[in-house]
Amino acid sequence: MGSKRVKFISIDDSDTPAITSKDPEKFKAAAKVFAKTLLDHPVSGQGLPTYGTDVLVNILNEAGGLPTRNFTKGSFEGHDKISGETMHDTIVARGGAPTHPCHPGCIIRCSQIYNDQDGNYLTSGFEYETIWGFGADCCIENLDDIAMADRLMDDIGVDSIETAVTFGVAMEAGVLGFGDGKGVVRILRDEIGKGTPLGRLMGGGAAQVGRAYGITRVPVVKGQGIPAYDPRSVKGIGVNYAMSTMGADHTSGYAVATNILNVGGRVDPLGKEGQVELARNLNIATAAIDSTGMCLFIAFPALDIPECLSSLIDMINAHFGISLTGDDVTALGKSVIKLERQFNLAAGLGPEQDRLPEFFSLEPLPPHNVVWDFTPAELDAYWDFA
Ligand code: SF4
Repeated sequence: MGSKRVKFISIDDSDTPAITSKDPEKFKAAAKVFAKTLLDHPVSGQGLPTYGTDVLVNILNEAGGLPTRNFTKGSFEGHDKISGETMHDTIVARGGAPTHPCHPGCIIRCSQIYNDQDGNYLTSGFEYETIWGFGADCCIENLDDIAMADRLMDDIGVDSIETAVTFGVAMEAGVLGFGDGKGVVRILRDEIGKGTPLGRLMGGGAAQVGRAYGITRVPVVKGQGIPAYDPRSVKGIGVNYAMSTMGADHTSGYAVATNILNVGGRVDPLGKEGQVELARNLNIATAAIDSTGMCLFIAFPALDIPECLSSLIDMINAHFGISLTGDDVTALGKSVIKLERQFNLAAGLGPEQDRLPEFFSLEPLPPHNVVWDFTPAELDAYWDFA
């Protein structure tokens, strides 16, 4: 959208008739069951509403999968200063809102309102990915500097994962120092926000900055910055990064759930066994969930509580007066990613783009000292269902 100079799309719904279900009673009954499963699951019912997505900082740090200092380490000494627990206490002390729905009706409420030191609104929807990116990956320990960066990125209209990864690469190139939170705020406000030559370079993303400065440690797939889980020590999500039709995208199939959070079963995050199959199945399920318009965070109860998915299907059926089955939903997910794959192949994005950057195979990641060790054939098996 940015390249087309579109910043947002606003829809005026006045005079639009209310949406009605074909069978409102059945819909309501199914919605009740569905809502209960969201509240019953420890991640969607407790972790996310209390600490937001930033609850993941300490968890990933402990697992050695928190990419730090431009993906050179898997843990960050300053993790406590940027953790969900610290963010929660800071918000409460400053009179903000530690739990908040990002849209009316959400009962998980993982968003929040983060105030500055004087109790004035600074930012909201302050996510783990943003805090990891400027925190661990850029080594900034000051949560207020990261919150100001978040606010500026919202105003400018740049993606916070891509921008954080870009700053990590720029820090390695010496554009500014690791840990320089004030420098990040200055470059966002005065360079990227104003479209100066440096701002246009940085606004073009991590791959562009890496090329411009001759940096080889550039964490991108298909030109898109790698998010907040190191693929060497959380191997399942690495498969998703490599194979996602959109480039490195943790939301295309959140294998972190099963690798780290023991949601939907358990696989060894440092091993390869079962990871390709897991990533593929999650990608198919996520494509189906995305098609419903539901937030991805319903995936946690959907993976663990059988009534979650069945009640969602009941809601769809009652709303539209149809009779979808679980198999139909899986087939829908498959058809979505097959279509995306066909688009990519026609656009010249084939197996050679379904790969992680070489440095992940060459540089062991502390503290587990593991490398990315999937062969091309192992990765390409991902598409065997297509
Ligand atoms: S819709 Fe999703 S992202 Fe938004 S507050 Fe609810 S759970 Fe969080």
